[in-house]
Amino acid sequence: MPTLLVLSFLLAPIQVRADAEVNAETSWPLVLRSELVRLGAMEFALRKGAQGACTKLSQASGMTLDYLGAYNRGDQDLVARMTGLGALPVVIGVAVGSPAYEAGIRPGDELEAIGPKTIGQVLAEMEHPSLLSGRLEDLLAQQSADRPTELSMRRDGISRVVNVHQIGLCATRFVLKTGGGMNAYGDSDRVAITSKILKSAQDDNELAIIAGHEFAHIVAGDSRARNLKLRRAMEDRADLLGVDLARCAGFDAASGLDWWRRYNRKDWKRWLRGPSHRNTHDRIELMEEHLADVPSPHCPPQVPALEV
Ligand SMILES: [Zn+2]
Repeated sequence: MPTLLVLSFLLAPIQVRADAEVNAETSWPLVLRSELVRLGAMEFALRKGAQGACTKLSQASGMTLDYLGAYNRGDQDLVARMTGLGALPVVIGVAVGSPAYEAGIRPGDELEAIGPKTIGQVLAEMEHPSLLSGRLEDLLAQQSADRPTELSMRRDGISRVVNVHQIGLCATRFVLKTGGGMNAYGDSDRVAITSKILKSAQDDNELAIIAGHEFAHIVAGDSRARNLKLRRAMEDRADLLGVDLARCAGFDAASGLDWWRRYNRKDWKRWLRGPSHRNTHDRIELMEEHLADVPSPHCPPQVPALEV
């Protein structure tokens, strides 16, 4: 990380520089962890709020995992030292009230097996072991809806089997992108949010508005639009549906719009943007009008027909 930051301390007393160097270069695993946990909790909250809105479902546990092998080899010693990650995948976040929470799973628990399948067996089948966390999330999502998911967990060196009553929620996964500027985007089943967006969202009401828009495209089943008119209609719908998804998940959408208001003030390149979205000012106005027209949304929100 930040050569510039370290260099800017060169003129300061040596002790200060040393501390700054240590802090700047070693704290990122903790920042990254808090971002993963925050996004995992947001994913569960928005999906739970939309329960009943989607036909395509996947099982949700409400826990977020991290795995040492996902980090660059050169970073692994530091990550292990800073976060305590060991050889097994570790639960780093559990959404309060989620199936994992109700089953007694807590941050710090290590995952040893999903059903009869041990982590070693899962790894042996993988071409890229660094992608283990995603693979485990897939496995958890694909578990049968008819019976509890049996997990073997280890805490303080003691293994135990935990039955997690997962719930079927809109099939999606929220992914953190550590590069890529100020951006949020999605495809048919994933919502990608950059670290920069997470940092810019001052609270979860704001994050829910941004993530809610991308999630709305998934809930609505949006795909590539045939023409610009259709694209704009999809974007308008995602703005309104996103606001309702955020509200159904318990967030304050009116204050969440502050993110867009700040963005609008700073967005000096707004006139150069593509025509697929309304300009930021008009988007904010559309969402504000909707909040005034529909003070409390039906939950789960209905997907409105496209106005084209
Ligand atoms: Zn969109």
